[in-house]
Amino acid sequence: MGSAKRMMMEQHKAHEIGMDICERARIVERCPVHEECYLVNGADEREAYMLGSILVRDGDALVAGFDRQTILDSIKAAIADAGSDGCALCAKNADD
Ligand SMILES: [Zn+2]
Repeated sequence: MGSAKRMMMEQHKAHEIGMDICERARIVERCPVHEECYLVNGADEREAYMLGSILVRDGDALVAGFDRQTILDSIKAAIADAGSDGCALCAKNADD
């Protein structure tokens, strides 16, 4: 496998981990129908960053092989990706 491809896969994995940590910190929820992630109303993003730091510090299996900065960046990206007003697909269906 080329190193560029491997790096892309690692970035993809880091993104999944970021979303996972946000879910564990309960700042995002996943729509049970569409699996879309969205921010929980009134969620405090710091909870996810704190949890990420703790997981790295404790050497949790979830973050194995990644450094703290990568994990914090992936949490940031996951938060940026999550919708802010419930599942976009559910909202779209409701409008139909
Ligand atoms: Zn939905």
